[in-house]
Amino acid sequence: MSRVTMENENKARLISTLKNSGSWILVSHVKPDGDTLGSASALFKIGLSLGKDVRWYGKDPFPERYRFLFASDRYESVQSMPDIPEDSVVVALDVSTLDRGIEGMSKGEKLVVIDHHGDNARFGDINLIEDVSSVGEMVYCLAGDLNVAISADMAESIYVAIATDTGGMTFSNTGGKTLRIVADLLDCGLPLQRVVKMLYHNDTVERLHLWGRAYERAVRLDGLCYSWLYDADFEETHTDQDDTESLVNSLMKIKDTKVAVLFVENDKDVKVSLRSDGSLSVREIAHLWNGGGHPCASGCRLTGPMDEVIARVLDSIYKR
Ligand code: 5GP
Ligand code: MN
Repeated sequence: MSRVTMENENKARLISTLKNSGSWILVSHVKPDGDTLGSASALFKIGLSLGKDVRWYGKDPFPERYRFLFASDRYESVQSMPDIPEDSVVVALDVSTLDRGIEGMSKGEKLVVIDHHGDNARFGDINLIEDVSSVGEMVYCLAGDLNVAISADMAESIYVAIATDTGGMTFSNTGGKTLRIVADLLDCGLPLQRVVKMLYHNDTVERLHLWGRAYERAVRLDGLCYSWLYDADFEETHTDQDDTESLVNSLMKIKDTKVAVLFVENDKDVKVSLRSDGSLSVREIAHLWNGGGHPCASGCRLTGPMDEVIARVLDSIYKR
């Protein structure tokens, strides 16, 4: 009960802070995915419709495959917070730890964290952390709290956020409320065929070649399926790290897979993406390696040669 009250109090403070700030500074997380980008894009439009000065920052470049989102041309890739107006509120979306945002995020008058990661570090002045499928769901509710009608482009952005984190409304985090929200998005003018085309029928042949390398190497051991990509695979297939988004989900397609792991090498370290059918909390595995996420979808980074990283992570899974 007390938790519910606290959440409501947080929400009321959040709404009045958003209403009373002249500038909204939105922050998406590193290696931005459809949830952090779609929810920021929708909030951007909500801010504009309330007459706010809205800016949108993130550390990494904007992924080309999400270029169709509203206000994508307003996103700026920065390493640290630029000068911002005095009456700004900084809003971090889907950012679970301070270091997944941008440096100096807390230098505004207020830092608001809107997230759905249970292990969020709660580093804001106001933290709205809810156990829902995606930040997209939370932004949909915020539009209602702010009395802003959902426009077609907001609906599209919110749909991208929800569809990304629910695997197109198929994962166990898809609640009745999720589907009711999607139904309402359709009523608000969501261009479903256009967005499905942009999300799912928009691959490049280079991307398929990259995925092919991961599929070719896939190893199936007990209930575990894993694969890996080297730095050279990206160069040779003319792809980049953004092209791996959702690849680990597709390793779950193999019959009777309980846990899927994808190891992706880059110049600094190896990024590990973990997925589970719910029988093992992969968040606990990620925590062992200073990562985080959700029980069914988590990630972490390890340094060392690929074969050693694979051995260390698989060992930590087998010990569970
Ligand atoms: P993905 O594997 O798609 O990159 O991430 C899956 C989930 O794990 C996301 O919710 C993401 O926030 C979380 N995650 C991925 N990598 C890291 C990491 O290095 N640190 C933390 N704390 N969370 C991560
Ligand atoms: Mn998310």
